[in-house]
Amino acid sequence: MVQLMIACPMTGEPVFTGLYADDPTPPTASAAVGCPHCGDLHEWKRDEAWTEAGAAPAPAPA
Ligand SMILES: [Zn+2]
Repeated sequence: MVQLMIACPMTGEPVFTGLYADDPTPPTASAAVGCPHCGDLHEWKRDEAWTEAGAAPAPAPA
């Protein structure tokens, strides 16, 4: 499963949108996701998302 990711506009950190690239019903317009980095709700469009194909970003230090 290839995750659809967006960048948090506040921190620049990647945020998993909760959707997958091979989801049979991907959003056609926009969606919103709760951000684990800044705690805000980010609206995003499909054009802004990228697929996280295997290479996960370095996890943030705990
Ligand atoms: Zn955020």
